[in-house]
Amino acid sequence: MSKKVMILPGDGIGPEIVEQACRVLAAVNEKFNLGLEFVEELIGGSSIDVHGEPLTDAAVERARSCDAILLGAVGGPKWDTIDRSIRPERGLLKIRSQLGLYANLRPALLYPQLVEASSLKPEVVSGLDILIVRELTGGIYFGEPRGIRTLENGEREGYNTYKYSESEIERIGRTAFEMARKRHKKVCSVDKANVLEATILWREVMDRLAPEYPDVELSHMYVDNAAMQLVRAPKQFDVLVTGNMFGDILSDAAAMLTGSIGMLPSASLNEQGQGMYEPCHGSAPDIAGQGIANPLATILSASMMLRYSLGMTDAADVIEAAVGKVLDQGLRTADIHTAGNEKVGTQQMGDAVLQAL
Ligand code: ATP
Ligand code: MG
Repeated sequence: MSKKVMILPGDGIGPEIVEQACRVLAAVNEKFNLGLEFVEELIGGSSIDVHGEPLTDAAVERARSCDAILLGAVGGPKWDTIDRSIRPERGLLKIRSQLGLYANLRPALLYPQLVEASSLKPEVVSGLDILIVRELTGGIYFGEPRGIRTLENGEREGYNTYKYSESEIERIGRTAFEMARKRHKKVCSVDKANVLEATILWREVMDRLAPEYPDVELSHMYVDNAAMQLVRAPKQFDVLVTGNMFGDILSDAAAMLTGSIGMLPSASLNEQGQGMYEPCHGSAPDIAGQGIANPLATILSASMMLRYSLGMTDAADVIEAAVGKVLDQGLRTADIHTAGNEKVGTQQMGDAVLQAL
């Protein structure tokens, strides 16, 4: 049975890096006879230019009928001054909420070839392999009421609402436990239960789930301590699970441990296992169009897609092995700072991965 993949190149370096990932997907499609079919849609600024909005309802409906989505990145200075309601980023929020993509998986994996590119000492990071599981459709980013209001004394006040229901916590908690089962059997739940009630409930629900996963060890940590531990001794973690805002911050910090943001893939899954896959980085307008962007985060996102939404584990393994091989060969894009290596562009890196397949 054929599987449908939607391609959303987006803006900035998005189209350049997605092109390389698509070449890799086409190659494994042929090699393993996967029966993948591809459809393409606009998102972000490129959709605003054509349709006047960052993601059309028709594109969302088409996405719904696909098994998985591969996204580049959205946004750029060209659209910075337009009305807030049609910003490129709104396209991302729309597809996440419309498809119910509540579980954001961000592996922070340090390739042995890139240890010296990490911002931490080799002995602290070598062998690093963390999975951050971030709740993506709730918490303070979506909580109502929110806004900026004028107080009686005439001064303005900005306010947001941090809330999580038991069912929201339970489903992201289960995702974390299930992931840990396939990994190193440890979950660290990150909250601020000493200050925020919403996270007292978070901790309670996590504790309630734990007995159902006796093979997984659950621990809790306050977010401030977790940030410190991530840069002090990151290898203590296996799976970190947390809410939307804490996850946003911690995963960017974890990204720095791995040498380059250009290496990091991500997945966002819904309850049906449908998923959207994208690099952790943005549209990098500063280097767009120069042919120097690192396509590996997007290629690795395509590999996660095969693994988590399409059940094509063999093809996923082969792509990851090919990425390891090109790093072994010493190929580096400009964002990876290791000494004495050959610097290559986006296309050449794509070529090398294809070769290594
Ligand atoms: P966003 O708001 O979309 O997250 P941002 O401005 O925070 O965007 P990025 O677009 O991720 O950040 O870019 C941050 C820096 O990292 C930029 O200097 C950019 O050139 C660089 N960068 C990001 N992705 C890549 C990549 N794939 N290859 C090389 N450099 C990259
Ligand atoms: Mg950013």
